[in-house]
Formats: sequence, structure tokens, C-alpha cells
Amino acid sequence: MPALGYWKIRGLAQPIRLLLNYVGEEFDDVQYEQGDAPEFSRDAWLSVKNTLVGKTPKEKVDCDMMVENAMDFRNGVVRLCYNKDYEKIKEDYFANVKDKLRQFDAFLGDKPWFAGDNITICDFPMYELLDQHKLMKPGILDDYPNLAKFVERFENLPKIKAYMASDKFMAGPINNKIHVKRGDHMKGARMLIRVANNISKFPSHIVPILTSTVIECHRAGLKNSSFSYAAMLMRPEYRNNIDLKYKKKIEMIVRKPDKTEEEEALTSCPYCSFQLPETALMCPECKNNLPYCIVTGRHIVNDDLTACPKCDFPAIFSEFIKLLETEENCPMCSEKIIKENLQKVTDINKYLHPEEGTIE
Ligand SMILES: [Zn+2]
Ligand SMILES: [Zn+2]
Repeated sequence: MPALGYWKIRGLAQPIRLLLNYVGEEFDDVQYEQGDAPEFSRDAWLSVKNTLVGKTPKEKVDCDMMVENAMDFRNGVVRLCYNKDYEKIKEDYFANVKDKLRQFDAFLGDKPWFAGDNITICDFPMYELLDQHKLMKPGILDDYPNLAKFVERFENLPKIKAYMASDKFMAGPINNKIHVKRGDHMKGARMLIRVANNISKFPSHIVPILTSTVIECHRAGLKNSSFSYAAMLMRPEYRNNIDLKYKKKIEMIVRKPDKTEEEEALTSCPYCSFQLPETALMCPECKNNLPYCIVTGRHIVNDDLTACPKCDFPAIFSEFIKLLETEENCPMCSEKIIKENLQKVTDINKYLHPEEGTIE
């Protein structure tokens, strides 16, 4: 489970930040340490959405289509990054994604933007996704010159360029949107620990990830983990790159080690009922990879299961209900979800053996 905290969170908020900066809408980009998600007015967002959907009928159609494509593209990435067997399946993923990239490259052709001559909302998630692929596999766009030029063109838009050069720009996983917003430091901390355990996959983000992990573990009372990652940050190659805001605090955590730590709660494996940590995604007993909840990232459990009515990804029922008290949208597909439409799933098999399901 390498990438959850990172990809998913960037996937949610980042295209919107880019878009709002592009059109110059003022919004408060409340950062991680305040513990809240970026805020902007709904009206501002709607007016943005309505002006950047293409100018000609063809552009409008292509913009729509590419928004859909970007969503599919993103779901593929999210599935990959949530997967416990990331290392094993990533080669397959990158082999298969070539086809997709080739199609996108051909579709873009020599147009400046995906829908045509005018930039539209589909270009923002497309940029974000292509950039993520570049981070995961440097050089991946070398065979797709149109896509490579698109990324460059996007980054050179004056407003985007200025934004990326500013310290408002979130290049790292510093915004654990859902978990921190709900004041639930424990969940955020557990997620970050899993990301930090795979830190070698994020070579350019080691220091910010470890920093978030130390701070969040400390807040959650996971003092031993906080201490271990703080000690790691004291290595000479990292030490000088720690954000000055946190440096003193981290040094103090190392100087006064506190090894108290609450054990993670255990829940049943949905396949074999073995009791395992709630964030584990591989059962040590039956060796199955466990489907994860799109709200918490924890493995699903038999007696508290639901699925998003729009995208059908599974989730822990009680957690999804809780989420809908403060959010309106599905964390996976971003569709608006009405609480009453959330049903408890009684036949869990469909989610345990998705490959055996019928094609709709
Ligand atoms: Zn099991
Ligand atoms: Zn959904």
C-alpha cells in the first residue's frame, strides 16, 4: 500500500487548485498545518466551470469526452496505487497504460489543448495525471511527444507558472484532506505510516512525507512511530531540508523519546475472518489481497459494507455515512452522493471476486 495518502489526495484537490489559479480566482488555500482543505466559493467554482468548457460545439463535446477519459485514467491510477501488490502489478500497469498514452497522444495531435484551440477544464486533470505518471516513472512521456509538449505548454501558462513558483503550490503530500479535515489524526497518521514505510517510492518527496508522518503521529499519540521517523529525518542527507516551521519540534521529539504507542485496532478479514489490523490490505492467513474502503483506505469488513451508488467502489458503511455529514461527494468518483441512497451490502461476494461479475 504505497501511495494512498499521496496520489489520492493530490488527485482530489490539485486539478481544482490549478484551475482556480489559472483563472485567477482568489481562494484560501488553507494548508495542512491548519488542518483544513482548500476552500473556495461554490459560485466561483461554477462560473469557472461554465467558462472553460469549450467555445465551439466540437470543443464542448471533446471537453466532455476528455473529462470522462480523465476520470477513467484516474481510477486506473488509484487502483494501482491502492494495491498492496503495487510492486508486482506496476509493470503490468505501465505496459498497459502505453496504449492509453498512445491514444491520448494521437487524439491531442498538434492541437494545443485536448478539446482544441482553447484550454478547457479537461486539461487540468489530464495535466495532473500525466505529471503523476512522470513522477512514478520518469521518462514515461518520452515516446509521446504531443503529450510531453502539452505538459510543458501547461506548465508555461503564466498563471500556472507563477503559482508553481509560489510557496502556495503543494508539490508534496502535505494535505491529508479528508482525514485531517475531520480532525481524525489517528487515521491520517496510520495512512502516513503506510506511505512512509514505502518511502523509497517517493525519492523526491522523502522529507515532506516523513515530516508529515512525524507531526501527524505525534498528534495522534503514536509516539513511538513519531520518534522513529523523526530519527530518520535527522540523517545528514535529510536534516537540512526539513521545513523550518517543524525543525525544532522534530528535534525535540528525537531528544526526548517517548515510546508509548497504542496498537492498531483489529478487524476481520472479509474472506476468512482472521483478525488483522484494520489498515492491512493483505491477509496473512488466507493470503488474499483485501479490497479497500474508499473512505478510510482500510480493508472492507463483512458486516459494515456499502458501495458508492455512482461508481460502485466498496466502502465501510458507517464511515461513508459519517463522511457524508461533512462532505457531499464520493471520495473516489467525486459524484454527489445522497445519504439515503447509501445501502448496506449484504452480498459481499461481488466485491470479493469482482472478476467473476457479469459485464453490465
Ligand atoms: Zn483472510
Ligand atoms: Zn463514487
